[in-house]
Amino acid sequence: MTTLRTLSDKTLAALIDGVPEAVLAVDEEGRIVGCNRAAEAALDLLAADITGHLPAAHPHTAPLADMIRRAVTTGQPTREPLPNSGHAGHTIMVLVTPAAGPSHHAPRSMSRLLDQMREIVHELKLPISSAKSFIDLIEATGEVNTQQAKWAERARLSLISMLSLVHELLDMAWLESGAALTLQSTDLCQLAERALAGLENYAHYREVDLSLDIPPEGCTLHGDESRLEGAITNLVSNAIKYSPDGGPVRLVIRRTADTITLRVEDRGIGIAPEHIPHLFQPFYRVQTAATRRIEGSGLGLSIVKGIVEKHGGTVFVESAPGEGSVFGFTLPVTNGGTPIA
Ligand code: ADP
Repeated sequence: MTTLRTLSDKTLAALIDGVPEAVLAVDEEGRIVGCNRAAEAALDLLAADITGHLPAAHPHTAPLADMIRRAVTTGQPTREPLPNSGHAGHTIMVLVTPAAGPSHHAPRSMSRLLDQMREIVHELKLPISSAKSFIDLIEATGEVNTQQAKWAERARLSLISMLSLVHELLDMAWLESGAALTLQSTDLCQLAERALAGLENYAHYREVDLSLDIPPEGCTLHGDESRLEGAITNLVSNAIKYSPDGGPVRLVIRRTADTITLRVEDRGIGIAPEHIPHLFQPFYRVQTAATRRIEGSGLGLSIVKGIVEKHGGTVFVESAPGEGSVFGFTLPVTNGGTPIA
């Protein structure tokens, strides 16, 4: 995050910087307290030059003074076309955030800001998904040559990774909001099958063989289907992503009388012991020559941990550099004393 000095919340900062739309955050007096990278580019300035100042203090933010006043008066996020922008359709969003320094309003304002950010991130889902559909349409409506097909595939993969970042940011915001799980009787083995089916194309592209080893009778527990499927997808897609030379990825589920354990095993790059204790912390990424070219936000594992712990379970990892990794979790088959169907 370029600035947002008044906001200590790391997730919030990542949310704002993760948004491709230009966003300015102002305090309740209309003073600029944050400016994301897209806004720096759109307004042709550096966040450091406008942070802490009223819009009138800089020639490039002065035309926004009226819009900022309206946002402060209503307390609502305001989005308008960029004044004097040569680019039709370019907009900027103004969010009202807590003032710098100690403030007894901060918690309420912070949660309002988080709600607003969640709304923006949520709005990104549609344009990204429709861009992906248009790429699919290009190929579906006529012959494309090999080069064009290759570029289309790259564009599709970039959009998929944007979509997955959007989902991660929304999951993170959901976890931080303390919202409840939607619990029902569900079969973890079926969720694992669905997660693998969703990752088939990605695995094929990365030349990774996916296999599943599950008890034939299934593994029923009381859980939140979509969150658990998301957690499994996260672990398997990491296993594929961190196996840059291809290789097998195996998902194994075993149950005892009281627990169900899911393991995702890969023979990828592995992880050195000093990183292991930090892997489930938000934003932690291992920085080595092997990981430098692999994209990621560092949020996935912390989301998996959050979801698993909300189900009363625990996460684990075993790994050695060059040999591969096993990531997984153990869940109780009862939850809060509720018998399993
Ligand atoms: P990211 O978006 O960076 O993949 P995660 O939270 O999912 O974020 O993972 C955190 C870090 O843990 C990664 O940056 C990577 O260094 C390491 N990691 C996760 N899964 C694996 C794996 N299967 N093999 C090797 N390293 C992994």
